[in-house]
Amino acid sequence: MRFSEFGLTTLKEGPADAEIVSHKLMLRAGLIRRLASGLFTWMPLGLRVLRKVEAVVREEMDRAGALELLMPAVQPSELWQESGRWDQYGPLLLRMQDRHQRDFCFGPTHEEVITDIARRELRSYKQLPVNFYQIQTKFRDEIRPRFGVMRSREFIMKDAYSFDIDQAGLEESYQRMHAAYSAIFERLGLRFRIVDADSGEIGGSRSQEFHVLADSGEDAIAYCDADNYASNVETAATMPVDEPRPAPARDLEKIATPGVRTIDDLCRMLDISASQTVKTLIVEGTDGPVALILRGDHELNAVKAQKLDGVAEPLTMADEKTIREATGSAPGSLGPVGLELPLYVDHAVGNLADFSCGANEVEFHYTGVNFGRDLAEPETVDLRNVIAGDPTPGGKGTLSIARGIEVGHIFQLGDKYSQAMSATVQDTDGKNRVMSMGCYGIGITRIVGAAIEQNHDENGIIWPDPLAPFDVVLVPINMHRSAEVRDAAEALYAELSGQGLEVLFDDRDARPGVKFADAELLGIPHRLVISDRNLAAGELEYRHRREPESRNMKREEALKLLR
Ligand code: ATP
Ligand code: MG
Repeated sequence: MRFSEFGLTTLKEGPADAEIVSHKLMLRAGLIRRLASGLFTWMPLGLRVLRKVEAVVREEMDRAGALELLMPAVQPSELWQESGRWDQYGPLLLRMQDRHQRDFCFGPTHEEVITDIARRELRSYKQLPVNFYQIQTKFRDEIRPRFGVMRSREFIMKDAYSFDIDQAGLEESYQRMHAAYSAIFERLGLRFRIVDADSGEIGGSRSQEFHVLADSGEDAIAYCDADNYASNVETAATMPVDEPRPAPARDLEKIATPGVRTIDDLCRMLDISASQTVKTLIVEGTDGPVALILRGDHELNAVKAQKLDGVAEPLTMADEKTIREATGSAPGSLGPVGLELPLYVDHAVGNLADFSCGANEVEFHYTGVNFGRDLAEPETVDLRNVIAGDPTPGGKGTLSIARGIEVGHIFQLGDKYSQAMSATVQDTDGKNRVMSMGCYGIGITRIVGAAIEQNHDENGIIWPDPLAPFDVVLVPINMHRSAEVRDAAEALYAELSGQGLEVLFDDRDARPGVKFADAELLGIPHRLVISDRNLAAGELEYRHRREPESRNMKREEALKLLR
């Protein structure tokens, strides 16, 4: 490809609202252009990268025996009524009506459509197992689209759905996808981790996520190599404390705490650490408000809390009015002593003695609070996010925390959709069985951003070879003045292209500095510079994007290296 014919515009600066490096670089390198919030055009250069991701994913899915199909993006509401998700899915679902006032949505995922296909097409156990996949555009009306293509509203997903006669079959299909996903992310040259995950909106039982490791990742991952354990912090379990609780040493005391609104305020006033305090969060419940009791230095885990009996899902903090009515007090002065609300107490709180908390009276707190004396012995539950240093569930080590970008997610759905939508086949005994389903997603567009997060320097992108839009960039110096350079560059371009390499020929009449800067920004793995000086010695200047220095080599040597 000749640069002059490629219509590529690079930018010196990323726009100010691009928060992370991949978003900035994708805009600067001209891979994408923004249309509106969460909507992007893939420009020719970006599309080349996207197609590479798709090709690897397609090859590995085919190799794993999955069958490609293509479903409509727009889906009729009737199917979503059948599965029950028309009412459950909430504002993430973009709903619309056609000219006959019939309800449709733009598909955020395709469980309903594929289950409808399966119940029509699959009749007998003999047709199982089967795994259908597509690479297709999704729409989710994300509350906070950001980070460019990493959290956009319209994006491309590879989604696959397996159908088996029973759980044992599903287990096998799931493991096959687990292996295929590992192969995909290895081939793409990304550093990734597989973690246990929550099933979220999609439902079902077992699920795992594939995360590209990067500091800018939106997800926190808890892991312990000694215990071979890795989990999204959303689901990583905390254990009841395995040590006896210290005996009470202090009397209960109620103290005036004027101006104290937060745990920090309280710690400053009493000169104690947050781990000696307890905070009380009031959330909406199915039958009135519910109190959640956590250590002051711990963070509530919404995924865990919303699964508790009596707690409303999705987890919703009670508003100030509700809190005042329920407690007679206000946020900032709440505590479990004498609180007449259903309570859930975190495991870590159960092991505290002589702690401090709000007294349910505005600007009053208790100190020296003890279970079994000042309030009933609690039955503790898991309410909080794990932190670095917590013991692993296996008990063999402690957890570390890393950040990750979720690029893939595999689920065992079981019969959630097949039951609701009566997707059955005839088994060997002639009886109808509800099929067991799995579903498997990969964020094709998100992978491009994630790859850049992991592979860049201050000058631009450094593509892993399998993702690079071009293999080689040719940079002739002064080509518009030197016939020798022009001829040599044209010959090299023809020869390398003839060998099947993807070559970007920077034939622009531009200063060498501009060309070098763009070559680095675009992140093309191999760069060859052609100049009068080097030609005289029969040499080219070669540099790999990951190497700090260029080196001169004979033309033949350079060709051999690229081959
Ligand atoms: P997230 O937790 O990041 O919102 P999700 O768990 O809702 O994602 P899934 O339903 O598991 O997403 O979708 C499968 C894959 O699609 C995800 O692993 C992710 O790579 C990709 N994906 C999901 N939402 C988006 C989005 N808004 N923009 C780009 N890619 C996305
Ligand atoms: Mg997911």
